[in-house]
Amino acid sequence: MVHELSHYVHGKRVPGASGAFGDVHDPNTGRVQARVPLADRAETESVIADARQAQLEWGEWSPQRRARVLLRFLQLVEDERDGIARALSAEHGKTVPDAHGDLQRGLEVVEFAAGVPHLVKGEFSDTAGTGIDVHSLRRPLGVVAGITPFNFPAMIPLWQAAPALACGNAFILKPSERDPSVPLRLAELFTEAGLPPGVLNVLNGGKEAVDTLLEDPRVAAVGFVGSTPVAQHVYATAAAHGKRAQCFGGAKNHLVVMPDADLDQAADALIGAGYGSAGERCMAVSVAVPVGEETADALVAKLVERIGRLRVGPSHDPEADFGPLVGADALERVLGYVDLGVQEGAELVVDGRGAKPEGYEDGFFLGACLFDRVTPDMRIYREEIFGPVLSVVRAADYEEALRLPDEHEYGNGVSIFTRDGDTARDFTHRITTGMVGVNVPIPVPVAYHTFGGWKRSAFGDLNQHGPDSIRFYTRTKTVTSRWPSGTKEGASFSIPVVR
Ligand code: NAD
Repeated sequence: MVHELSHYVHGKRVPGASGAFGDVHDPNTGRVQARVPLADRAETESVIADARQAQLEWGEWSPQRRARVLLRFLQLVEDERDGIARALSAEHGKTVPDAHGDLQRGLEVVEFAAGVPHLVKGEFSDTAGTGIDVHSLRRPLGVVAGITPFNFPAMIPLWQAAPALACGNAFILKPSERDPSVPLRLAELFTEAGLPPGVLNVLNGGKEAVDTLLEDPRVAAVGFVGSTPVAQHVYATAAAHGKRAQCFGGAKNHLVVMPDADLDQAADALIGAGYGSAGERCMAVSVAVPVGEETADALVAKLVERIGRLRVGPSHDPEADFGPLVGADALERVLGYVDLGVQEGAELVVDGRGAKPEGYEDGFFLGACLFDRVTPDMRIYREEIFGPVLSVVRAADYEEALRLPDEHEYGNGVSIFTRDGDTARDFTHRITTGMVGVNVPIPVPVAYHTFGGWKRSAFGDLNQHGPDSIRFYTRTKTVTSRWPSGTKEGASFSIPVVR
Protein backbone atom coordinates (compact mmCIF):
# COMPACT_ATOMS: atom_id res chain seq x y z
CA MET A 1 0.00 0.00 0.00
CA VAL A 2 1.63 3.28 -1.11
CA HIS A 3 1.02 5.94 1.44
CA GLU A 4 0.55 9.57 0.28
CA LEU A 5 2.52 12.19 2.18
CA SER A 6 1.68 15.90 2.46
CA HIS A 7 3.14 19.32 3.13
CA TYR A 8 2.85 20.91 6.58
CA VAL A 9 1.44 24.41 6.39
CA HIS A 10 -0.10 26.70 9.01
CA GLY A 11 -0.02 24.03 11.69
CA LYS A 12 -1.53 21.16 9.73
CA ARG A 13 -0.85 18.57 7.05
CA VAL A 14 -1.89 19.84 3.64
CA PRO A 15 -2.10 17.62 0.55
CA GLY A 16 -0.11 18.54 -2.55
CA ALA A 17 -1.93 20.58 -5.18
CA SER A 18 0.52 20.45 -8.10
CA GLY A 19 -0.29 16.87 -9.10
CA ALA A 20 3.42 16.03 -9.18
CA PHE A 21 4.83 13.39 -6.85
CA GLY A 22 8.16 11.76 -6.03
CA ASP A 23 8.64 8.18 -4.85
CA VAL A 24 9.89 7.43 -1.35
CA HIS A 25 11.52 3.98 -1.29
CA ASP A 26 12.08 1.40 1.37
CA PRO A 27 15.83 0.97 0.76
CA ASN A 28 15.78 -2.46 2.42
CA THR A 29 13.37 -3.96 -0.11
CA GLY A 30 13.68 -1.54 -3.02
CA ARG A 31 9.91 -1.04 -3.02
CA VAL A 32 8.11 2.31 -3.16
CA GLN A 33 6.57 2.89 0.28
CA ALA A 34 5.14 6.41 -0.12
CA ARG A 35 4.58 9.25 -2.57
CA VAL A 36 5.66 12.74 -1.67
CA PRO A 37 4.00 15.78 -3.25
CA LEU A 38 6.31 18.13 -5.15
CA ALA A 39 5.26 21.74 -4.72
CA ASP A 40 5.04 24.04 -7.72
CA ARG A 41 5.65 27.78 -7.81
CA ALA A 42 2.10 28.75 -6.79
CA GLU A 43 2.08 26.43 -3.75
CA THR A 44 5.51 27.66 -2.70
CA GLU A 45 4.43 31.29 -2.97
CA SER A 46 1.36 30.70 -0.83
CA VAL A 47 3.51 29.01 1.84
CA ILE A 48 5.84 32.03 1.84
CA ALA A 49 2.84 34.35 2.29
CA ASP A 50 1.62 32.28 5.24
CA ALA A 51 5.07 32.33 6.85
CA ARG A 52 5.40 36.08 6.39
CA GLN A 53 2.13 36.75 8.16
CA ALA A 54 2.98 34.39 11.03
CA GLN A 55 6.42 35.91 11.55
CA LEU A 56 5.07 39.38 12.30
CA GLU A 57 3.78 38.26 15.69
CA TRP A 58 6.37 35.56 16.44
CA GLY A 59 9.22 38.04 15.94
CA GLU A 60 7.74 40.19 18.72
CA TRP A 61 7.59 37.39 21.30
CA SER A 62 10.23 37.72 23.98
CA PRO A 63 13.19 35.40 23.37
CA GLN A 64 12.49 33.61 26.63
CA ARG A 65 8.93 32.81 25.58
CA ARG A 66 10.22 31.48 22.27
CA ALA A 67 12.81 29.37 24.14
CA ARG A 68 10.02 27.74 26.15
CA VAL A 69 8.54 26.38 22.91
CA LEU A 70 11.89 24.76 22.15
CA LEU A 71 12.07 23.27 25.64
CA ARG A 72 8.57 21.78 25.33
CA PHE A 73 9.51 20.44 21.88
CA LEU A 74 12.53 18.66 23.39
CA GLN A 75 10.25 16.92 25.87
CA LEU A 76 7.75 15.86 23.19
CA VAL A 77 10.49 14.39 21.01
CA GLU A 78 11.92 12.59 24.03
CA ASP A 79 8.53 10.91 24.56
CA GLU A 80 8.54 9.39 21.07
CA ARG A 81 12.24 9.19 20.35
CA ASP A 82 12.22 5.52 19.38
CA GLY A 83 9.31 5.84 16.96
CA ILE A 84 11.01 8.76 15.22
CA ALA A 85 14.30 6.87 14.95
CA ARG A 86 12.53 3.86 13.45
CA ALA A 87 10.65 5.98 10.91
CA LEU A 88 13.91 7.67 9.95
CA SER A 89 15.72 4.37 9.56
CA ALA A 90 12.90 2.93 7.42
CA GLU A 91 13.16 5.73 4.82
CA HIS A 92 16.88 6.42 4.91
CA GLY A 93 18.28 2.92 5.46
CA LYS A 94 20.66 3.78 8.31
CA THR A 95 20.51 1.44 11.33
CA VAL A 96 18.15 2.30 14.20
CA PRO A 97 20.96 3.16 16.68
CA ASP A 98 22.49 5.43 14.02
CA ALA A 99 19.07 7.03 13.44
CA HIS A 100 18.94 7.75 17.18
CA GLY A 101 22.27 9.54 16.77
CA ASP A 102 20.90 11.56 13.84
CA LEU A 103 18.02 12.76 16.00
CA GLN A 104 20.17 13.32 19.08
CA ARG A 105 22.72 15.53 17.29
CA GLY A 106 19.78 17.64 16.09
CA LEU A 107 18.27 17.91 19.57
CA GLU A 108 21.59 19.13 20.94
CA VAL A 109 21.28 22.19 18.72
CA VAL A 110 17.71 22.72 19.97
CA GLU A 111 19.16 22.67 23.51
CA PHE A 112 21.78 25.22 22.45
CA ALA A 113 19.17 27.45 20.79
CA ALA A 114 17.01 27.36 23.94
CA GLY A 115 19.69 29.65 25.41
CA VAL A 116 18.58 32.34 22.95
CA PRO A 117 17.73 35.04 25.52
CA HIS A 118 21.41 35.14 26.38
CA LEU A 119 22.61 34.60 22.79
CA VAL A 120 20.74 37.55 21.27
CA LYS A 121 21.71 40.05 23.93
CA GLY A 122 23.10 43.10 22.19
CA GLU A 123 26.06 45.24 23.10
CA PHE A 124 25.98 48.54 24.95
CA SER A 125 28.55 51.32 25.13
CA ASP A 126 28.02 53.91 27.75
CA THR A 127 29.29 57.42 26.91
CA ALA A 128 30.53 56.69 23.41
CA GLY A 129 30.62 60.49 23.15
CA THR A 130 29.59 63.16 25.59
CA GLY A 131 26.04 62.25 26.63
CA ILE A 132 25.88 59.64 23.88
CA ASP A 133 25.22 55.91 24.31
CA VAL A 134 25.41 53.25 21.62
CA HIS A 135 23.65 49.90 21.72
CA SER A 136 23.06 47.12 19.26
CA LEU A 137 20.03 44.88 18.76
CA ARG A 138 19.89 41.50 17.09
CA ARG A 139 16.67 41.45 15.08
CA PRO A 140 15.16 38.51 13.20
CA LEU A 141 15.48 38.50 9.41
CA GLY A 142 11.82 37.63 8.75
CA VAL A 143 11.11 34.56 6.63
CA VAL A 144 14.06 32.22 6.12
CA ALA A 145 14.25 28.93 4.25
CA GLY A 146 16.23 25.72 4.69
CA ILE A 147 16.96 23.15 1.99
CA THR A 148 18.26 19.92 3.43
CA PRO A 149 19.84 16.66 2.18
CA PHE A 150 18.63 13.08 2.56
CA ASN A 151 21.46 11.85 4.73
CA PHE A 152 20.48 13.48 8.06
CA PRO A 153 16.70 13.98 7.84
CA ALA A 154 16.38 14.93 11.53
CA MET A 155 19.71 16.51 12.40
CA ILE A 156 20.13 19.04 9.63
CA PRO A 157 16.54 20.35 9.60
CA LEU A 158 16.90 20.87 13.38
CA TRP A 159 20.33 22.52 12.97
CA GLN A 160 18.63 25.13 10.84
CA ALA A 161 15.14 25.33 12.35
CA ALA A 162 16.15 25.65 16.00
CA PRO A 163 18.34 28.78 15.79
CA ALA A 164 16.18 30.30 13.04
CA LEU A 165 13.01 29.99 15.13
CA ALA A 166 14.68 30.90 18.42
CA CYS A 167 15.86 34.16 16.83
CA GLY A 168 12.28 35.05 15.89
CA ASN A 169 12.16 34.08 12.23
CA ALA A 170 9.54 32.05 10.41
CA PHE A 171 11.22 29.01 8.88
CA ILE A 172 10.25 27.18 5.69
CA LEU A 173 11.86 23.77 5.48
CA LYS A 174 12.28 22.09 2.10
CA PRO A 175 13.52 18.65 3.15
CA SER A 176 14.93 15.98 0.87
CA GLU A 177 12.22 14.33 -1.19
CA ARG A 178 13.84 10.95 -0.43
CA ASP A 179 12.98 10.83 3.30
CA PRO A 180 10.48 13.55 4.26
CA SER A 181 8.43 11.76 6.96
CA VAL A 182 10.55 12.67 9.98
CA PRO A 183 10.74 16.39 9.12
CA LEU A 184 6.93 16.38 8.82
CA ARG A 185 6.53 14.73 12.24
CA LEU A 186 9.02 17.14 13.84
CA ALA A 187 6.98 20.07 12.51
CA GLU A 188 3.83 18.62 14.08
CA LEU A 189 5.61 18.31 17.41
CA PHE A 190 6.70 21.96 17.20
CA THR A 191 3.02 22.92 16.83
CA GLU A 192 2.13 20.73 19.81
CA ALA A 193 4.89 22.47 21.75
CA GLY A 194 3.18 25.81 21.20
CA LEU A 195 4.73 27.16 18.02
CA PRO A 196 2.12 29.40 16.34
CA PRO A 197 0.78 28.13 12.98
CA GLY A 198 2.82 29.24 9.96
CA VAL A 199 6.03 29.88 11.89
CA LEU A 200 7.40 26.52 10.72
CA ASN A 201 6.12 25.21 7.41
CA VAL A 202 7.39 22.11 5.63
CA LEU A 203 7.22 22.31 1.90
CA ASN A 204 8.07 19.17 -0.03
CA GLY A 205 9.43 19.50 -3.52
CA GLY A 206 12.36 19.62 -5.86
CA LYS A 207 14.01 22.23 -8.06
CA GLU A 208 10.87 24.28 -8.77
CA ALA A 209 10.12 24.76 -5.07
CA VAL A 210 13.77 25.55 -4.29
CA ASP A 211 14.13 28.05 -7.12
CA THR A 212 10.92 29.80 -6.05
CA LEU A 213 12.26 30.13 -2.50
CA LEU A 214 15.52 31.53 -3.87
CA GLU A 215 13.88 34.08 -6.13
CA ASP A 216 11.06 35.33 -3.91
CA PRO A 217 11.94 38.68 -2.29
CA ARG A 218 9.96 37.81 0.84
CA VAL A 219 12.55 35.14 1.78
CA ALA A 220 15.45 36.91 3.49
CA ALA A 221 17.96 34.08 3.91
CA VAL A 222 18.59 30.54 2.78
CA GLY A 223 20.48 27.73 4.47
CA PHE A 224 21.42 24.85 2.19
CA VAL A 225 23.09 21.52 2.84
CA GLY A 226 23.68 19.00 0.04
CA SER A 227 26.01 18.29 -2.86
CA THR A 228 28.53 20.88 -4.06
CA PRO A 229 27.06 21.64 -7.50
CA VAL A 230 23.63 22.36 -5.98
CA ALA A 231 25.21 24.27 -3.07
CA GLN A 232 26.95 26.52 -5.57
CA HIS A 233 23.76 27.01 -7.60
CA VAL A 234 21.79 27.90 -4.45
CA TYR A 235 24.51 30.27 -3.24
CA ALA A 236 24.79 32.08 -6.58
CA THR A 237 21.02 32.34 -7.09
CA ALA A 238 20.36 33.49 -3.54
CA ALA A 239 23.10 36.13 -3.80
CA ALA A 240 21.75 37.33 -7.16
CA HIS A 241 18.42 37.88 -5.41
CA GLY A 242 19.97 39.80 -2.53
CA LYS A 243 19.66 37.07 0.07
CA ARG A 244 21.94 35.98 2.82
CA ALA A 245 23.02 32.38 2.17
CA GLN A 246 25.08 29.67 3.81
CA CYS A 247 25.49 26.62 1.59
CA PHE A 248 27.31 23.47 2.64
CA GLY A 249 28.46 20.96 0.04
CA GLY A 250 30.28 17.71 -0.47
CA ALA A 251 33.40 16.27 1.07
CA LYS A 252 36.35 13.97 0.76
CA ASN A 253 37.57 13.52 4.31
CA HIS A 254 41.06 12.16 4.92
CA LEU A 255 42.41 10.38 7.98
CA VAL A 256 46.18 10.53 8.28
CA VAL A 257 47.85 7.69 10.18
CA MET A 258 51.36 8.47 11.43
CA PRO A 259 53.83 5.64 12.08
CA ASP A 260 53.62 6.29 15.85
CA ALA A 261 49.80 6.06 15.98
CA ASP A 262 47.91 3.36 17.82
CA LEU A 263 47.10 1.34 14.70
CA ASP A 264 44.22 -0.58 16.26
CA GLN A 265 42.58 2.67 17.27
CA ALA A 266 43.16 4.12 13.80
CA ALA A 267 41.77 1.00 12.08
CA ASP A 268 38.65 1.04 14.29
CA ALA A 269 38.19 4.73 13.53
CA LEU A 270 38.46 4.10 9.79
CA ILE A 271 35.96 1.25 9.88
CA GLY A 272 33.34 3.23 11.83
CA ALA A 273 33.82 6.50 9.97
CA GLY A 274 34.30 4.88 6.58
CA TYR A 275 31.44 2.42 6.54
CA GLY A 276 28.99 3.71 9.19
CA SER A 277 25.70 4.78 7.59
CA ALA A 278 27.01 3.06 4.41
CA GLY A 279 29.43 5.96 3.96
CA GLU A 280 26.54 8.39 3.40
CA ARG A 281 27.79 11.05 5.80
CA CYS A 282 29.36 14.34 4.85
CA MET A 283 31.86 13.65 7.64
CA ALA A 284 32.49 10.06 6.57
CA VAL A 285 36.17 9.28 6.19
CA SER A 286 36.69 8.13 2.62
CA VAL A 287 40.49 8.37 2.36
CA ALA A 288 43.03 6.76 4.68
CA VAL A 289 46.56 8.15 4.42
CA PRO A 290 49.08 5.91 6.17
CA VAL A 291 52.57 7.39 6.34
CA GLY A 292 55.32 5.00 5.28
CA GLU A 293 55.06 1.56 3.65
CA GLU A 294 55.32 -0.29 6.94
CA THR A 295 52.40 1.64 8.47
CA ALA A 296 50.41 1.16 5.27
CA ASP A 297 50.91 -2.62 5.13
CA ALA A 298 50.02 -3.04 8.80
CA LEU A 299 46.99 -0.76 8.52
CA VAL A 300 45.60 -2.44 5.40
CA ALA A 301 45.95 -5.86 7.08
CA LYS A 302 43.99 -4.61 10.10
CA LEU A 303 41.30 -3.08 7.89
CA VAL A 304 40.87 -6.27 5.86
CA GLU A 305 40.54 -8.31 9.01
CA ARG A 306 37.90 -5.95 10.47
CA ILE A 307 35.93 -5.67 7.22
CA GLY A 308 35.66 -9.46 7.26
CA ARG A 309 33.65 -9.16 10.47
CA LEU A 310 31.30 -6.39 9.26
CA ARG A 311 27.65 -7.18 8.84
CA VAL A 312 25.55 -5.45 6.19
CA GLY A 313 21.87 -5.92 6.86
CA PRO A 314 18.43 -4.36 6.75
CA SER A 315 18.30 -1.15 8.74
CA HIS A 316 16.03 -2.65 11.42
CA ASP A 317 18.38 -5.59 12.07
CA PRO A 318 19.94 -4.99 15.50
CA GLU A 319 23.02 -6.95 14.41
CA ALA A 320 23.68 -4.85 11.28
CA ASP A 321 26.69 -2.52 11.26
CA PHE A 322 25.27 -0.62 8.33
CA GLY A 323 22.28 -0.82 6.04
CA PRO A 324 21.52 -0.17 2.37
CA LEU A 325 22.20 2.94 0.33
CA VAL A 326 19.31 5.36 0.01
CA GLY A 327 18.24 4.61 -3.57
CA ALA A 328 18.81 2.61 -6.75
CA ASP A 329 20.51 5.64 -8.32
CA ALA A 330 22.89 5.96 -5.36
CA LEU A 331 23.74 2.25 -5.60
CA GLU A 332 24.36 2.53 -9.33
CA ARG A 333 26.58 5.59 -8.86
CA VAL A 334 28.71 3.93 -6.17
CA LEU A 335 29.01 0.68 -8.17
CA GLY A 336 30.15 2.82 -11.09
CA TYR A 337 32.95 4.24 -8.93
CA VAL A 338 34.04 0.75 -7.84
CA ASP A 339 34.31 -0.30 -11.51
CA LEU A 340 36.13 2.93 -12.29
CA GLY A 341 38.65 2.39 -9.49
CA VAL A 342 39.52 -1.01 -10.92
CA GLN A 343 39.90 0.50 -14.41
CA GLU A 344 42.07 3.30 -13.03
CA GLY A 345 44.47 0.75 -11.60
CA ALA A 346 43.69 0.92 -7.89
CA GLU A 347 43.91 -2.39 -6.02
CA LEU A 348 40.45 -3.58 -4.91
CA VAL A 349 41.54 -5.41 -1.77
CA VAL A 350 37.99 -6.04 -0.53
CA ASP A 351 35.12 -6.24 -3.02
CA GLY A 352 31.72 -5.69 -1.40
CA ARG A 353 29.75 -5.99 -4.62
CA GLY A 354 27.11 -8.66 -4.46
CA ALA A 355 26.67 -8.52 -0.68
CA LYS A 356 22.88 -8.89 -0.40
CA PRO A 357 21.28 -9.97 2.88
CA GLU A 358 19.04 -13.00 2.41
CA GLY A 359 15.43 -12.04 1.74
CA TYR A 360 16.44 -8.49 0.70
CA GLU A 361 17.79 -9.18 -2.79
CA ASP A 362 16.07 -6.10 -4.25
CA GLY A 363 17.35 -3.73 -1.54
CA PHE A 364 20.02 -1.14 -2.31
CA PHE A 365 22.84 -3.00 -0.53
CA LEU A 366 26.53 -2.80 -1.12
CA GLY A 367 29.14 -4.40 1.12
CA ALA A 368 32.28 -2.61 2.30
CA CYS A 369 34.84 -2.01 -0.44
CA LEU A 370 38.50 -1.22 0.19
CA PHE A 371 40.88 0.18 -2.41
CA ASP A 372 44.64 0.25 -1.80
CA ARG A 373 47.30 2.13 -3.78
CA VAL A 374 44.91 4.87 -4.87
CA THR A 375 46.73 7.88 -6.34
CA PRO A 376 45.71 11.57 -6.39
CA ASP A 377 45.16 11.64 -10.16
CA MET A 378 42.39 9.00 -9.99
CA ARG A 379 38.76 10.10 -10.16
CA ILE A 380 37.90 7.79 -7.26
CA TYR A 381 40.23 10.00 -5.20
CA ARG A 382 39.19 13.37 -6.55
CA GLU A 383 35.40 12.88 -6.48
CA GLU A 384 32.98 12.27 -3.64
CA ILE A 385 31.70 8.66 -3.84
CA PHE A 386 29.26 8.82 -0.89
CA GLY A 387 29.10 5.08 -0.28
CA PRO A 388 30.87 2.31 1.66
CA VAL A 389 34.13 2.66 -0.25
CA LEU A 390 37.39 3.48 1.52
CA SER A 391 40.52 4.41 -0.43
CA VAL A 392 44.04 4.05 0.91
CA VAL A 393 46.51 6.58 -0.47
CA ARG A 394 50.02 5.76 0.71
CA ALA A 395 52.18 8.76 1.64
CA ALA A 396 55.96 8.59 1.85
CA ASP A 397 56.24 11.11 4.67
CA TYR A 398 54.33 13.59 6.82
CA GLU A 399 54.65 16.48 4.34
CA GLU A 400 53.08 14.40 1.56
CA ALA A 401 50.29 13.27 3.92
CA LEU A 402 49.56 16.89 4.80
CA ARG A 403 49.60 17.98 1.18
CA LEU A 404 46.90 15.49 0.11
CA PRO A 405 43.93 16.91 2.07
CA ASP A 406 45.45 20.37 1.75
CA GLU A 407 45.37 20.31 -2.05
CA HIS A 408 42.03 18.51 -2.35
CA GLU A 409 39.19 20.70 -3.62
CA TYR A 410 37.01 19.73 -0.64
CA GLY A 411 37.83 20.80 2.90
CA ASN A 412 35.10 19.57 5.20
CA GLY A 413 36.74 17.33 7.82
CA VAL A 414 40.13 15.72 8.38
CA SER A 415 41.79 13.72 11.15
CA ILE A 416 45.26 12.74 12.20
CA PHE A 417 46.19 9.79 14.37
CA THR A 418 49.51 10.24 16.15
CA ARG A 419 51.02 10.11 19.63
CA ASP A 420 53.17 13.15 18.90
CA GLY A 421 51.80 16.49 20.09
CA ASP A 422 54.12 18.53 17.91
CA THR A 423 52.97 16.74 14.73
CA ALA A 424 49.33 17.10 15.75
CA ARG A 425 49.76 20.79 16.44
CA ASP A 426 51.57 21.45 13.18
CA PHE A 427 48.85 19.56 11.29
CA THR A 428 45.91 21.34 12.91
CA HIS A 429 47.61 24.69 12.35
CA ARG A 430 48.52 24.25 8.67
CA ILE A 431 45.69 22.18 7.21
CA THR A 432 43.12 24.02 5.06
CA THR A 433 40.09 22.12 6.32
CA GLY A 434 37.18 23.41 8.39
CA MET A 435 36.95 20.67 11.02
CA VAL A 436 39.98 18.81 12.33
CA GLY A 437 40.21 15.72 14.53
CA VAL A 438 43.20 14.57 16.54
CA ASN A 439 42.88 10.87 17.35
CA VAL A 440 39.10 11.12 16.77
CA PRO A 441 37.52 9.78 13.60
CA ILE A 442 34.64 12.17 12.85
CA PRO A 443 35.36 15.65 14.18
CA VAL A 444 31.76 16.92 14.18
CA PRO A 445 31.87 19.81 16.66
CA VAL A 446 29.46 19.94 19.62
CA ALA A 447 26.34 22.12 19.27
CA TYR A 448 27.81 25.20 20.98
CA HIS A 449 30.76 25.31 18.59
CA THR A 450 30.21 25.74 14.87
CA PHE A 451 30.10 23.29 11.97
CA GLY A 452 31.37 24.07 8.51
CA GLY A 453 33.93 23.12 5.90
CA TRP A 454 36.35 25.17 3.82
CA LYS A 455 37.04 25.41 0.09
CA ARG A 456 34.37 23.76 -2.10
CA SER A 457 32.67 22.18 0.91
CA ALA A 458 31.00 25.46 1.87
CA PHE A 459 29.86 28.71 0.25
CA GLY A 460 29.12 31.67 2.50
CA ASP A 461 30.92 32.95 5.55
CA LEU A 462 29.07 31.75 8.64
CA ASN A 463 28.93 28.18 9.92
CA GLN A 464 26.03 26.07 11.14
CA HIS A 465 25.00 25.99 14.83
CA GLY A 466 26.94 27.57 17.69
CA PRO A 467 27.33 31.35 17.86
CA ASP A 468 27.58 31.66 14.05
CA SER A 469 23.99 30.41 13.67
CA ILE A 470 22.73 33.26 15.85
CA ARG A 471 24.64 35.73 13.67
CA PHE A 472 23.31 34.12 10.52
CA TYR A 473 19.65 34.22 11.59
CA THR A 474 19.68 37.78 12.96
CA ARG A 475 20.72 41.14 11.67
CA THR A 476 22.28 43.84 13.72
CA LYS A 477 20.77 47.22 14.30
CA THR A 478 22.99 49.77 16.00
CA VAL A 479 21.37 52.64 17.87
CA THR A 480 23.21 55.83 18.78
CA SER A 481 21.25 57.94 21.26
CA ARG A 482 21.70 61.19 23.07
CA TRP A 483 19.55 62.35 25.96
CA PRO A 484 18.51 64.98 26.77
CA SER A 485 20.42 67.61 24.88
CA GLY A 486 18.82 66.81 21.51
CA THR A 487 20.29 68.69 18.58
CA LYS A 488 20.14 72.15 20.10
CA GLU A 489 23.73 72.91 18.95
CA GLY A 490 22.47 72.98 15.38
CA ALA A 491 23.22 70.74 12.44
CA SER A 492 26.72 69.44 11.72
CA PHE A 493 27.80 68.68 8.17
CA SER A 494 30.95 66.67 8.82
CA ILE A 495 30.88 63.03 9.99
CA PRO A 496 30.87 62.79 13.79
CA VAL A 497 34.11 61.47 15.30
CA VAL A 498 35.09 60.72 18.89
CA ARG A 499 37.16 63.57 20.33
P1 NAD B 1 21.48 17.01 -3.15
O1 NAD B 1 22.36 18.15 -3.48
O2 NAD B 1 21.10 16.07 -4.22
O3 NAD B 1 20.10 17.53 -2.51
C1 NAD B 1 20.08 18.44 -1.41
C2 NAD B 1 18.79 19.24 -1.46
O4 NAD B 1 18.78 20.04 -2.65
C3 NAD B 1 17.53 18.39 -1.50
O5 NAD B 1 16.55 19.01 -0.69
C4 NAD B 1 17.12 18.41 -2.97
O6 NAD B 1 15.74 18.31 -3.15
C5 NAD B 1 17.61 19.77 -3.44
N1 NAD B 1 18.03 19.80 -4.84
C6 NAD B 1 18.61 18.77 -5.54
N2 NAD B 1 18.90 19.18 -6.80
C7 NAD B 1 18.51 20.47 -6.90
C8 NAD B 1 18.57 21.44 -7.94
N3 NAD B 1 19.09 21.16 -9.12
N4 NAD B 1 18.09 22.69 -7.69
C9 NAD B 1 17.57 22.99 -6.49
N5 NAD B 1 17.49 22.10 -5.46
C10 NAD B 1 17.96 20.86 -5.65
O7 NAD B 1 22.22 16.23 -1.93
P2 NAD B 1 21.79 14.86 -1.26
O8 NAD B 1 22.08 13.73 -2.19
O9 NAD B 1 20.43 14.95 -0.65
O10 NAD B 1 22.82 14.81 -0.04
C11 NAD B 1 24.12 14.30 -0.15
C12 NAD B 1 25.15 15.41 -0.32
O11 NAD B 1 25.06 16.32 0.76
C13 NAD B 1 26.59 14.91 -0.28
O12 NAD B 1 27.33 15.59 -1.26
C14 NAD B 1 27.07 15.29 1.11
O13 NAD B 1 28.46 15.45 1.25
C15 NAD B 1 26.35 16.56 1.31
N6 NAD B 1 26.23 16.92 2.72
C16 NAD B 1 27.00 17.95 3.16
C17 NAD B 1 26.94 18.31 4.49
C18 NAD B 1 27.78 19.45 5.01
O14 NAD B 1 27.54 19.91 6.11
N7 NAD B 1 28.76 19.91 4.27
C19 NAD B 1 26.07 17.63 5.36
C20 NAD B 1 25.30 16.59 4.86
C21 NAD B 1 25.38 16.25 3.53
